[in-house]
Amino acid sequence: MSTIAENLKNIKEIVSETAIKCGRDPHEITLMAVSKTKPMEMLIEAYNAGMRLFGENRVLEAVEKRKELPLDAEIQLIGHLQSNKTKASVGNFSCIQSVDSLKIARKINKEAEDQGIVQKILIELKTSEEESKSGFSSEDEYYESLEEIMSMNHIEVRGLMTIAPFVDDDVIVRSSFKKCRLVFEKTKKMYPHKKLTVLSMGMSGDFPLAIEEGATLIRVGSSIFGTRY
Ligand SMILES: *Cc1c(COP(=O)(O)O)cnc(C)c1O
Repeated sequence: MSTIAENLKNIKEIVSETAIKCGRDPHEITLMAVSKTKPMEMLIEAYNAGMRLFGENRVLEAVEKRKELPLDAEIQLIGHLQSNKTKASVGNFSCIQSVDSLKIARKINKEAEDQGIVQKILIELKTSEEESKSGFSSEDEYYESLEEIMSMNHIEVRGLMTIAPFVDDDVIVRSSFKKCRLVFEKTKKMYPHKKLTVLSMGMSGDFPLAIEEGATLIRVGSSIFGTRY
């Protein structure tokens, strides 16, 4: 078995154990392989081991990789989307997870309208104090923008995404996930007719905590493909 296949197997075991331990069905949790900066051979290796969902943070890199992946694989955008890359993104990702402002949502909606498609997105919420993190920077800003985003005809909001702070303190990491989950639950109550099913949180260093806090999609890179340099 290749290293990547072994890593995937190990991670899936941890996902199952963690889910069962906290009373969740492991099938509720989707594993995304974050392949940013990694060469195509590694994505193919993961594909051959059964992986069908990949995450990339650079639009042009992702578009190139998309061309070389079999058609039944999906790539989603997980990195900040600059407005001048909107055109290249819409229609090329099965989901844009990193919608972090009303402005970019409007741009995506407009571009999707021009293409005659509906683009699936997640709204990214900043749940950490770290300056470097992207996302709607406060719950107020999020709720103020929500109605307009939800009413856009060429965007389908599927849920929320967050990145926890890179700290060693589980209490801080957990509270970041918890915050995102509470906003997710509240949003589902506000929009019961929308298909809000995706809570994207948890990376290599913190995905078990994220599962305990309700994640339905975890984004794992270095634990599958090795450290990025
Ligand atoms: C890079 C990245 C990941 C994966 O990080 P690892 O620590 O390598 O698992 C997950 N989510 C986002 C948004 C990322 O940019």
